[in-house]
Amino acid sequence: MCNILRVRWTVIPRTAPEPRIACSGCGGPRPFRSSGKIRLNANGRTLDAWLIYRCSSCGNTWNRPIFERRNVRDVDRATLEALQSNDPDRVRGWAFDLDALRRKAQSVDEYADADVRKEVLIESDAWTVLEIDLAVPFATGFRLDRLLARELGITRSGLQSACDGMRLRTEPQHPGILRKRIKDGTRVIIAVDAKSRLRWRAAATGLPNDPGAAEIG
Ligand SMILES: [Zn+2]
Repeated sequence: MCNILRVRWTVIPRTAPEPRIACSGCGGPRPFRSSGKIRLNANGRTLDAWLIYRCSSCGNTWNRPIFERRNVRDVDRATLEALQSNDPDRVRGWAFDLDALRRKAQSVDEYADADVRKEVLIESDAWTVLEIDLAVPFATGFRLDRLLARELGITRSGLQSACDGMRLRTEPQHPGILRKRIKDGTRVIIAVDAKSRLRWRAAATGLPNDPGAAEIG
């Protein structure tokens, strides 16, 4: 364990997926955006909760069910409070719940724009193995190869050849993982040449290199 630079990348998508819904205002399917607002309706002992979406062209609303006709006793207190207060974190969780959205809309537009927060977990002096742990709290359409290419500054074909040459692998490992959307808990492991360590370190950590550190040739 003395040859590792381990970092955590937390990937926070910027744009929630947008379902395409038939819009009565526009007369055809349009992408709808989450307004971030919840509508809660009580009828006797039953509750309906919807996340309100708006047509991106005309502003018409679509109420996306979070649940409908649920007995109030079956809604836990934290969820009820989150619904009543438009809790931004919980609303974000619903807005990014792609599987639930796909059950309500025939097609869903996804976006691959995301901010990546980088933290150093372990850094040994003479590391030659870079490990990147991915934390992906919200579903995103970002593919693993695009994320690595963008953040590490290498081409996607370069990534594939590193993968073919066993210099790059993942845990879990399965064929085609580079072209799949990123998943929480994936670890990317890259064998790094000593002479290019500083370049890899800067890209992986987002930190400036110590100006006094000499490049190892
Ligand atoms: Zn519309």
